[in-house]
Amino acid sequence: MNQRWRLIALWLLPVGMVIILSWQVFNSPGLSGKPSSDGTIVQPVNTAVSRMSYGRFLDYINAGRVTSVDIYDGGRNAVVEAVDPDLDNRVQKIRVDLPGLAPELVNKLKDEGISFDIHPPKTTSPGLGILGNLLFPLLLIGGLVLLARRSNSMPGGPGQAMQFGKTKARFAMEAETGVKFDDVAGVAEAKQDLQEVVTFLKTPERFTSVGAQIPKGVLLVGPPGTGKTLLAKAIAGEAGVPFFSLSGSEFVEMFVGVGASRVRDLFKRAKETSPCLIFIDEIDAVGRQRGAGIGGGNDEREQTLNQLLTEMDGFEGNSGIIIIAATNRPDVLDSALMRPGRFDRQVMVDAPDIKGRLSILKVHSKNKKLSNNLSLENIARRTPGFTGADLANLLNEAAILTARRRKESITLSEIDAAVDRIIAGMEGQPLTDGRSKRLIAYHEVGHALIGTLVKDHDPVQKVTVIPRGQAKGLTWFSPDDDQMLVSRAQLKARIMGALGGRAAEDVIFGREEVTTGAGGDIQQVASMARQMVTKFGMSDLGPVSLEGDSQEVFLGRDLMTRNDISDAISRQIDEKVRDMVKNCYEETRELVEKNREAMDNLVEILIEKETIDGDEFTEVLSKYTSIPTKERTIPLLND
Ligand code: ADP
Ligand code: MG
Ligand code: ZN
Repeated sequence: MNQRWRLIALWLLPVGMVIILSWQVFNSPGLSGKPSSDGTIVQPVNTAVSRMSYGRFLDYINAGRVTSVDIYDGGRNAVVEAVDPDLDNRVQKIRVDLPGLAPELVNKLKDEGISFDIHPPKTTSPGLGILGNLLFPLLLIGGLVLLARRSNSMPGGPGQAMQFGKTKARFAMEAETGVKFDDVAGVAEAKQDLQEVVTFLKTPERFTSVGAQIPKGVLLVGPPGTGKTLLAKAIAGEAGVPFFSLSGSEFVEMFVGVGASRVRDLFKRAKETSPCLIFIDEIDAVGRQRGAGIGGGNDEREQTLNQLLTEMDGFEGNSGIIIIAATNRPDVLDSALMRPGRFDRQVMVDAPDIKGRLSILKVHSKNKKLSNNLSLENIARRTPGFTGADLANLLNEAAILTARRRKESITLSEIDAAVDRIIAGMEGQPLTDGRSKRLIAYHEVGHALIGTLVKDHDPVQKVTVIPRGQAKGLTWFSPDDDQMLVSRAQLKARIMGALGGRAAEDVIFGREEVTTGAGGDIQQVASMARQMVTKFGMSDLGPVSLEGDSQEVFLGRDLMTRNDISDAISRQIDEKVRDMVKNCYEETRELVEKNREAMDNLVEILIEKETIDGDEFTEVLSKYTSIPTKERTIPLLND
């Protein structure tokens, strides 16, 4: 936290200054009398010396009167020891101002055999030395003070905490967002709902003339990256009104009252600029249920929320301000926020389906060069679960890759690479052939084998032993698109597929040789099996929901975690989960054992080629055993 750091730094300043100054005082004999070991006071040495000009100095050298020269300050000063023939050749110290460290002077001194010394700038004289020592801390202090000052006066910059509530509001204002509804794709219903808001902002008279109250707040609900911010901007853009935005997390500050004053400022500015749109991102950061959590909640947050509610109540519905808030956790919001007259309208913005993805791809590919045989439908089909932001990122990554490969236009190969990268992370270096590579190959072929042989499993798209992200090898499946309902058989198939890797290690290398590589798979299996028992009623405990309502105390509405499940039931659940996983594992092992020969062959191919695609995998496997056909629902994409 930047502010906190600066605050501490400023608190430390006076302390630091005292320490530094006293250290200087005690360490410099020039500033204070200090008892020496024999008890007498050592007075500062007075090095007062007379001066002479540079010309005179040269004369002195020529006259052979100079015995030594000490040059200071990079050649600008010198202390010269010269003998005075008029005074019994007494040695005098004389100061000379030099025009700089001239090589002629140095040469001259050398020629004359005069001893000279060039001192580094710091130690010109004791007085200057102390100044030099003081200079650094002084600069440091000055710098810190300046830093704190400057960032305080910077609107929107950090350092607001220093002003204790008299903050400049930290929100952004765009007079013209330039975003239109056409830029937001794949969220047709949301757009329809929000079209109305545009009308409210554009022609409020139409509603007020018949006595209608214009709604003040709309809550956009949906996962990150689905285009909520973009939609809000599009509303402002369509209506041609300014767009004020700030994020809920920016409300919450270290000092009580800062967030509330920020809300006040925001509404003040908005009223001056109406009609306009206020967008509050991540409203759940301030709008969580009040009074929840241990210790009575967060005062600052509650004050901020109260201020927000007050402001919303404080302006008339037809004042031309509409507030749009976004969250992905509507369940934790304070119910007061959702009351009529506040955020009483909710619009869902979900991850797009295949048609939605296609239209988003169309929007984002407008300014990109795609190769002629690249079909956007195809991309939409292979990116289930991708949000608008993911798709925009996908096309961008593919474009970057295309440029790096020095190609003219984006082809399927770059899209594939980008999809893989977004889903599973960066590609690593393939392992060299050896025992671990072999084990990884068997593990992956195990997944792919089960995926292909179990009827209800999604078909294999490809298998690879090239590491990516955290994974040492990967098996990709192509899911049936946008499946809303998943059957028991499908869940079981997924469990078996996930166990395929471990089963292969077990069968081929033996029980003692199985590795930690299956850790992720096993976690997945456990969670799937548990959900089947407790959530979906798919075990012989019957169709009852046995979910423990275990939300985090701080985040949820409930003050405490409720646990409605008795110990006896919870033991039964564990038992059922274990049975289910055990049975699936037995079945999986059997399949692996039966297809050992096919696996050996496939592993050889995989080690050599490093990646096998699904079709080739199926073809090789079909030489050994019969493969069930998989029913797929291929969605139609005709609008
Ligand atoms: P959110 O606010 O829901 O987290 P954003 O609106 O910030 O998501 O989306 C981030 C980016 O992703 C947008 O700027 C846009 O480029 C892209 N994007 C997201 N959803 C869509 C969509 N429905 N249509 C077009 N682009 C989208
Ligand atoms: Mg956003
Ligand atoms: Zn695995």
